[in-house]
Amino acid sequence: MPLKCLRGADEIYAFDMESNGAWEAFRKENAKSGDLRMPCCGAAVVLRTSPLGTRHFAHKRTGPCETAPESKEHLLAKRLVIDGMRRTNWDAKPEQDGATPTGERWKADVLATRGKARVAFEIQWSRQDGAETKRRQERYVASDIRGLWLFRQLDFPFADKDCPAFRMVFDEKMNGVSVWIPSPLWHPDYAKPEERDADRHWSQRIELSRFAEGAVSGRLRFAPTLGATLPLDVMVVKTVCRRCGKETRIVVKMVLAASRIFPTHPDIHVSLPSMDRIPGGPSIVAGWLPKGLLRRYGVGEVKVRRSGLEVEKRASYLSNGCVSCGAMQARWFEGNIDDDPEVALTVDVVFDESWVLHMPGTRNWRRWWFDES
Ligand SMILES: [Zn+2]
Ligand SMILES: [Zn+2]
Repeated sequence: MPLKCLRGADEIYAFDMESNGAWEAFRKENAKSGDLRMPCCGAAVVLRTSPLGTRHFAHKRTGPCETAPESKEHLLAKRLVIDGMRRTNWDAKPEQDGATPTGERWKADVLATRGKARVAFEIQWSRQDGAETKRRQERYVASDIRGLWLFRQLDFPFADKDCPAFRMVFDEKMNGVSVWIPSPLWHPDYAKPEERDADRHWSQRIELSRFAEGAVSGRLRFAPTLGATLPLDVMVVKTVCRRCGKETRIVVKMVLAASRIFPTHPDIHVSLPSMDRIPGGPSIVAGWLPKGLLRRYGVGEVKVRRSGLEVEKRASYLSNGCVSCGAMQARWFEGNIDDDPEVALTVDVVFDESWVLHMPGTRNWRRWWFDES
């Protein structure tokens, strides 16, 4: 069920006939002249409207053509991608053929072009295994085309910078299609069947034409936090120093509030132990939280101290101190403090590759994010 047919060498697109009048006039003209041809096999064409209301072309007679028929959802999705592209300065055409420099053929559901830049939108309503996705993506790379994949199946590559892939869901009520971007909690192997649509697994849901429009307009970004300045919320609790007996506050948690800069983006947790383990970590923390600044909030200095106790078989580690006497507030006590931590201060921090790439756990930030602003 293509959106495209041929008249001689010219491509004719169903979506170019917006009004009912134009579509009907075109139908009459074709019935008389019969000069439209199917791109797949050259057979005669009839004009149709799918059960979902998408205008398209079809074989006039069921014949020997073995081109697999498309689902009505696939057809609608192509049409919505085209709709989105038409709101941009990209030129988009459905069902475009091409080849890599070494002659491997590809066919894009929708190929968007602007100058030398090309983006292929691939709508996988039918299942495709990962190896085939990889092969097809390599063909696009070899042809200097960026391939973007929309899958109905759940086992698609969901955090791959080189292969942007997303879930596509048909919404019967809206007669539309939306694109779902996975949250850090999503993994197709671990999500229970009844929880596969749950909100906690999907951080963003975007109408398809808007998604396509945004994808070529710089709104779709991979790891947008990398290199960005993010607010770091420093969370503290009260404790009593065991050396001087005075009250002090100690840092128990640090959260990079990425969602404040990139709405709907997951926040990123940072801890003193994790910063302690990365090269240069303690001095990075000292740069974020200078002693004088912490003191103003009643928080003791955070620095590397020699441990009197053999806490972690290490002589010294990045630790909290007492704001009055400077004595180490041993880390293992922090777990025993059950007060709710409060945000004592917020500082701006550059989410810099030099330390971020050493941090454990990258799933909160190595992911796709769509700017919905
Ligand atoms: Zn055909
Ligand atoms: Zn003290």
